[in-house]
Amino acid sequence: MQDRKSYDRTYAIVDLGRIVENLRLCKEKLRKGMAVCAVVKMDAYGHGIVEVAKAIADECAMFGVATVEEAITLRKAGIEGDILILGVIPESQYALLYEYRIMPSLFTLKQLKKLEELGKKNNTNLAVHIALDTGMGRIGIQTEEKGALKIAEQILASPHIEVKGIFSHFASCDEQDKSYARKQEQRFKNYLEKLKERGFTIPLCHIANSAGILEDIGTEYNMVRDGIVLYGVYPSKEVLHELPIKMALSWKAKISHIKTVPAGEGISYGSTFVTEKEMKIATIPVGYGDGYPRILSGKATVLVSGKKCPILGRVCMDQFMVDITGVEAELFQEVTLLGEEGGEEISLYDWEELGVFPYEFLCGLGNRVPRVYYRGKEWIGTYNPQDNLHLHEFS
Ligand SMILES: *Cc1c(COP(=O)(O)O)cnc(C)c1O
Repeated sequence: MQDRKSYDRTYAIVDLGRIVENLRLCKEKLRKGMAVCAVVKMDAYGHGIVEVAKAIADECAMFGVATVEEAITLRKAGIEGDILILGVIPESQYALLYEYRIMPSLFTLKQLKKLEELGKKNNTNLAVHIALDTGMGRIGIQTEEKGALKIAEQILASPHIEVKGIFSHFASCDEQDKSYARKQEQRFKNYLEKLKERGFTIPLCHIANSAGILEDIGTEYNMVRDGIVLYGVYPSKEVLHELPIKMALSWKAKISHIKTVPAGEGISYGSTFVTEKEMKIATIPVGYGDGYPRILSGKATVLVSGKKCPILGRVCMDQFMVDITGVEAELFQEVTLLGEEGGEEISLYDWEELGVFPYEFLCGLGNRVPRVYYRGKEWIGTYNPQDNLHLHEFS
């Protein structure tokens, strides 16, 4: 990591202390001894997978990722604990599972055959989790179909496959109406019971995601998968907001231009905003190319000198304009796009009200935005994805 604490165009601040604290809050809410799979897929929801994983490695049972590449990134960063891939892996990457000791999610006989063959050839066992589809309709053994039990039984009976866990995923546990989640949980329970009747016990069983943790649904098993709540964001408006989790990420930029504009002038593409009076306008050198949602055009605000200043007109790829009439502001002054400044806050929930899907925003926070890490007030280090873009002279 680099030694820079701020950048002159834009940067995001990630408070790793908050992530650790959010994880602790979940663990305190859960039954004692409950294992937590920390979901760090998609670069830890945009926060930086290596830094986040290192910060919580001692506090979680395993990491959940989406791709083999993400798992290898963790291994290369020195993460030695268990890593579970929550999706499907292309056959061409199977060998990497052995090389880097990564657990796949298994649910078809075709996958089993290939992996059992590889295990036999290499004379090694592969740890896996069995995926069950109880109603998400995405991946997993379809638990209500004929022969559903046979698939798990065959996986469990394979000499070179070691089943370390079994899991399913909720489709709508973040909605007010929990009837579908309860149905999924019942299917999960039935399936596990049938396996038990046949003499199989599987070390880890898990179905709860963040919403499950918050609503205490699917938490009677021995592991949960903690995703968005780790980062201090509630999965939806409809779940209980009882844990004092705090958003780990905030986003800063520096004003690139200030001007006064007379009445009757159009601002930004399409002139969707036209000044009705003389206005003082600041240009912010950030746009949807950095992950700033274009849907916020003409809707959201930016904190300038601690005051909420509205966006004027459309968000461009790399810039947008805000109304700073009557606000004291200087060229190159730092402003807050997301987070707290001067007692005010622009929260991701404000953006959610305006049509932003919080998960999607976090995943889309771009490569052009360096991440500066703190633990509380203590600066930890910096990760600038642009360093990987052949831009050494700027690093
Ligand atoms: C992404 C994902 C999670 C995490 O979901 P959150 O809502 O962020 O907690 C858990 N389990 C699976 C299978 C996932 O794909």
